[in-house]
Amino acid sequence: MTVFDFIREELDEIRELGLFRVFRSIESGKGATVRINGRELINFCSNNYLGLANHPKGQKKAAEMLKKFGTGAGASRLVSGNFKLHEELESKIAKFEKTQASIVFPTGYMANLGTIQALVGEGDAVIVDRLDHASIIDGARLSGAKLLVYSHRDTKQLAKVLERSKAFRRRLIVTDHVFSMDGDIAPIEQLARLAARYHAMLMVDTAHSTGMLEFKLRWPRMAENMIVMGTLSKAIGSLGGFVAGKKGLIDYLRNRARSFIYTTALPPSVAAASIASLDILSKDDKPSKRMWANVKYLKEKLKPLGFNTMGSQSQIVPLFIGDTQLAVRLSAYLFENGIFLSAIRPPTVPKGTSRLRLTVTAMHSKDDIDVLASKLAEAKEKFIG
Ligand SMILES: *Cc1c(COP(=O)(O)O)cnc(C)c1O
Repeated sequence: MTVFDFIREELDEIRELGLFRVFRSIESGKGATVRINGRELINFCSNNYLGLANHPKGQKKAAEMLKKFGTGAGASRLVSGNFKLHEELESKIAKFEKTQASIVFPTGYMANLGTIQALVGEGDAVIVDRLDHASIIDGARLSGAKLLVYSHRDTKQLAKVLERSKAFRRRLIVTDHVFSMDGDIAPIEQLARLAARYHAMLMVDTAHSTGMLEFKLRWPRMAENMIVMGTLSKAIGSLGGFVAGKKGLIDYLRNRARSFIYTTALPPSVAAASIASLDILSKDDKPSKRMWANVKYLKEKLKPLGFNTMGSQSQIVPLFIGDTQLAVRLSAYLFENGIFLSAIRPPTVPKGTSRLRLTVTAMHSKDDIDVLASKLAEAKEKFIG
């Protein structure tokens, strides 16, 4: 008997359920293909949606700043780790999001944690969509506020929750914009209207829409209750999370968000890469246009195959499998056949909803998508029938 026996027991259980996770190690490659175990594969599970992680301008600017400032920021932003580049990035984000100000965290995960924990606490309520990202749920739990959940995209149920929760001091509704594992889109306009009517804050996590999809509100006053959160780690092709909003909100987060205060600032070179990406996106909508054209082409190619794509409305196209072992077998078959498409299993998605979470990017060619469709057809024939 040792104090760590529980680890072996839990690992055995994880393995029995087919949920044990192993790495795929990428040896080289950027863009649409990667090399793993000495073989080239087309990558259909990257969040580098616009190819900006490998844009020459971002690489050049990051390399210059790496030379100029070194590899690390050396301290937290509030001590001696605040570089002009961080502030330039924050003002670029504010401009990009059409808000007064913004604040950058080391990751999107930390942006959600720190922001939710700063905005609500004991005596308050956080109201979340059942399929919100784990970082939102973790932030809600950490805050000490009461966690209330509504069914996925169900604004009628949200209205009931808001009606019943009037006794709480403050209420914060949080939703993914594009849902990370389902690829469908939250009804932002209706959520904003409900937030305004019930005097609640509304935080929208744009991790999978920044630079690709905007939401426009018909009634500007709705935006007064709104907080935009996003990540620089996906379409922006770098690393970091952000919150954009009114100047007061950002000042407040700088003083209250623990995951901002008690952590080292992003390396300046990383901030520089994000700046380059935002500059590219504000001048050039071609990467986004290319991505959406690929989304359309992929969906046409998928239609005859008969997969359930779970109401996808974006570049995230889940292929619903259900059974975890089957999802893993399909993913392994595709891997053997030159397609990198990992299986997403519980607890990342609810039990019984394992899936292949397919993402299509601006970097894919039509040929890539054709190959994918034919391999998926083979895999379906072989394992599902
Ligand atoms: C990826 C993701 C995050 C976390 O962002 P990172 O920068 O990767 O930490 C937050 N919210 C959603 C919806 C995400 O998909």
